Amino acid sequence: MTDYIVICVDRSGEDGGHNHIYQALVRPVTGGTGRLLPVKDIRREIKLGVHHFYSADPLGNRVPVKRYKCDCGRKTIRTRPDDINDDNLSRKGPCT
Ligand SMILES: [Zn+2]
Repeated sequence: MTDYIVICVDRSGEDGGHNHIYQALVRPVTGGTGRLLPVKDIRREIKLGVHHFYSADPLGNRVPVKRYKCDCGRKTIRTRPDDINDDNLSRKGPCT
């Protein structure tokens, strides 16, 4: 089991202005090489419960990244309260 921290996220710009996350660069909290993963893979790993994903706010507090299905039907990930407007995962800059 590995704990991963989200470094940055890439967002689509085509979902009615929702800008959902579609991939994220994650790195083991213990250090090591980052992996750019599609949201689909991150959602699957969260569901399996083998690996855990976290996002850190500017103060360094870690919160869990969770699976999230938007009102528009898009399956993505979020911290709280959604993947669009919060003070953590949503503040991550783009990877590419
Ligand atoms: Zn949406």
